[in-house]
Amino acid sequence: MQPNWAEATQETVKHLSRLIQAETMNPPGNELPAILMIKDILEREGLHSPGDFVIVESAPQRVNLIARLRGDGSQRPLLLSGHVDVVPVEREKWSRNPFGGEVINGEVWGRGALDMKGFLAMYLQIFLQVRRANLPLKRDLILAAIADEEAGFDHGSKFLVSQHRELISAEYGLTEGGAFTIPMGKLRIYAIQVAEKGVTWLKMVTKGKPGHASLPHEDNAVFHLAQAIEKIRCAGHLPVHITPTFRAMVSKAATQAKFPVSIFLRGLSVPWIVSLCLKFLKGYPKTLLTALTTNTCTPTLLHAGQKTNVIPAEAFAHIDCRRLPGQSPEDVMREVLAIAGNRISLEPLDTSPGAAFPTDSPLYRLLEEETHKLDPQGIVIPMMMPGATDACVYREAGITMYGFTPGRLPEGFPVLSLAHGHDERLPISFIESGLPVLWEVVRKFCAAL
Ligand SMILES: [Zn+2]
Repeated sequence: MQPNWAEATQETVKHLSRLIQAETMNPPGNELPAILMIKDILEREGLHSPGDFVIVESAPQRVNLIARLRGDGSQRPLLLSGHVDVVPVEREKWSRNPFGGEVINGEVWGRGALDMKGFLAMYLQIFLQVRRANLPLKRDLILAAIADEEAGFDHGSKFLVSQHRELISAEYGLTEGGAFTIPMGKLRIYAIQVAEKGVTWLKMVTKGKPGHASLPHEDNAVFHLAQAIEKIRCAGHLPVHITPTFRAMVSKAATQAKFPVSIFLRGLSVPWIVSLCLKFLKGYPKTLLTALTTNTCTPTLLHAGQKTNVIPAEAFAHIDCRRLPGQSPEDVMREVLAIAGNRISLEPLDTSPGAAFPTDSPLYRLLEEETHKLDPQGIVIPMMMPGATDACVYREAGITMYGFTPGRLPEGFPVLSLAHGHDERLPISFIESGLPVLWEVVRKFCAAL
């Protein structure tokens, strides 16, 4: 029997508001209030620790909750994982209280509404519905509400994978980042995330001649650094590389687009005409498409000098680079050097591998099938995520992860700029459209016949 989706939506909205009110900004990271709230919901449902759920602490205030509905064990578990931490806010830029969780004109407002408390509230709802329906399961259904996705994974997925692997061990998992409406021109795309770019953080160093600031000279490390960064800006982007995931994505979109858009979409998989095609694809997210076809290179942090009247001998910038699958940290460093010139040196600060998961698995096919039902005119494609999520960490535990948080967004809803942006919010209609999709996926994949 189908749950009552109108009631389930209202309950999800209530949970989401409470989750937003639980301030969990990271940094500094304080997931405890949100985790206690979920604990409360589970206990009201008759679920108890440690049999049904456990809370594990990775540091003071940094906690993760893992709940489990047991199956007959004939198949390995499905994990639904959502992080409860959120990025900080600039309160003065918001038109509402970012931690108010208010419902205004059919939208739930607040930091985390999109990334990803809204999606976690939907996972939680499905978990509750499976329990209420007493659905016999062939595989355990695991719900993980975790810490520290927004600042390096150490206290969340990395902690679980390294120290509590038995809690999250699963054959497949779903987490944030896919199957919601992305407008591309006149098309509505539903991109299921199957791959993530790797991370390479670099320190770019320039050296010059130190001296007294009253006697200026050209061999100033600050000038050299500024020039190198300006060269990166002028270049626009690093060289284009087309990955199999991207080719699959644009060719699928092209088959459903009209001429001449279909031609330009196909052109996106030919490296030397990508920039040209992007010019003709009006209304398409150019920044995103560029990030999916290049290693990216973003200066974020600058440092030089100790004192106003001293010319420093050295200046440096931190550069956040994201690598396409198949590209090594050395490849990225070579590309940055080729653009930024020979006055710089590069030191790797931190690197992490990306991830790519199969699109021919039974779960992927089911995700695709159910997403089609959400919007029969929409185009469902596999996609690579330009950033990193918990999926790349869970991959180390052998879990096949997909970014799947389905729902239909109203036309013109600026989803890509609201996550991590000001006035973050989630339409209630999204929740209502997505819950039945998630339910069908979980039911078909986990229920014993
Ligand atoms: Zn997120």
